[in-house]
Amino acid sequence: TLAPLPDAVRSVFDTVQLRNPREPEFQQAVHEVLHSIAPVLESHPEFVAGGIVERLVEPERQIMFRVPWIDDAGQVRVNRGYRIQFSSVLGPYKGGLRFHPSVNLSIVKFLGFEQIFKNALTGQGIGGAKGGSDFDPHGRSNAEIMRFCQSFMNELYRHLGEHTDVPAGDIGVGAREIGFLFGQYRKVTNRHESGMFTGKGVQWGGAEVRTEATGYGAVFFAEEMLAVRGDSLAGKRVAISGSGNVATYAIDKARQLGATPVTASDSSGYIVDDAGIDLALLRELKEVRRARISDYARERPSARFVEGGTPWEVAVDVAIPSATQNELDVDDARTLIANGVIAVSEGANMPSTPGAVAALQEAGVLFGPGKAANAGGVATSALEMSQNAARQRWSFDDSEAKLRAIMADIHRSTFEAAERYGRPGDYVAGANITGFERVAHAMLAQGVI
Ligand code: GLU
Repeated sequence: TLAPLPDAVRSVFDTVQLRNPREPEFQQAVHEVLHSIAPVLESHPEFVAGGIVERLVEPERQIMFRVPWIDDAGQVRVNRGYRIQFSSVLGPYKGGLRFHPSVNLSIVKFLGFEQIFKNALTGQGIGGAKGGSDFDPHGRSNAEIMRFCQSFMNELYRHLGEHTDVPAGDIGVGAREIGFLFGQYRKVTNRHESGMFTGKGVQWGGAEVRTEATGYGAVFFAEEMLAVRGDSLAGKRVAISGSGNVATYAIDKARQLGATPVTASDSSGYIVDDAGIDLALLRELKEVRRARISDYARERPSARFVEGGTPWEVAVDVAIPSATQNELDVDDARTLIANGVIAVSEGANMPSTPGAVAALQEAGVLFGPGKAANAGGVATSALEMSQNAARQRWSFDDSEAKLRAIMADIHRSTFEAAERYGRPGDYVAGANITGFERVAHAMLAQGVI
């Protein structure tokens, strides 16, 4: 169902399909980038001669490993671990770890591929990687989570290091898991290498604003897009999906900027609260009680729970998909458009299907793709690495100001690249072109490796 590609990139995509069969998410992510950069190749014959695209679509290194652990009943369990070290041309491999039953090679490769361009957009000197496991943390005890994280690191440690590969969190990997993973790395290497992992607790080397950064950044990106049209988030109704780290802080920042966030969701359905999401209650339910989203509606008279639905059927001005890949399809996009949506800013990685992106852009909706809109998380990870290297701690306000400036810079560079290539307002093209140009120039300079 992917559209035909321009001649300049078609044969590369054919090879990707042949070499990576049954990897639909990876193929989808590559297809989108190739489509955007075809005009760049036409004006840069040196990129073609240098085999830049052929090299870029093949990960530098792919690691797959056994993760054995013992559950609370004493039974041996086995999961599969992954780390895709996709590109280190701009800096050490950088990207999160995802623990979720849906994780497979296609998912980690699409995420690692996206990460190359996202990280290039931050301008912070970081390469692209992603990893994780098909381990399902849901319903597991604290001790089981710890044993799993220790076993995972018993293999992965040998591939990591502050100048080599620096993981962080993603779905299913938060402060608790990062603590266990970091602790085991320290144990097996006998090194307190604080810059080898980001998203650490602020008491032990973590950076202020890292927790908030992805959600805050996605809202800042929406604010930047609206500003181009002389508009802002103040007074807008916002639909947010998910109820994890990204969604939580998107809700927080949307409200601070004068908008009313009205939805949140999990895999069971969504809640809509016309009075605006009560963030304290949401956090208490998800982070402390680890409850389902439906409990929110039970405790808030202004809210109702819609089982099995998605927030995209609620009438809003702005949507911030912050749950997972391909969660917003073409029908959802049409519903949002019919209800008058003016901007979509992706907090998750590739949450909109290709059909949804096309429908939104054709309808003139401002569309901020994840690799630009959610880059605030990894950008703040780079700030954490800087602080670790310099043995410094920056204040919350300073760090947030830096994040704000980075998001404005990403918006400006993607907006300008889209104009330069005759695609005004197309942030998908702008993000792919800007990220690609930075990586391609570096690859050309560093030779065929
Ligand atoms: N997992 C996040 C992302 O998708 C953060 C990665 C990081 O901070 O390294 O960008």
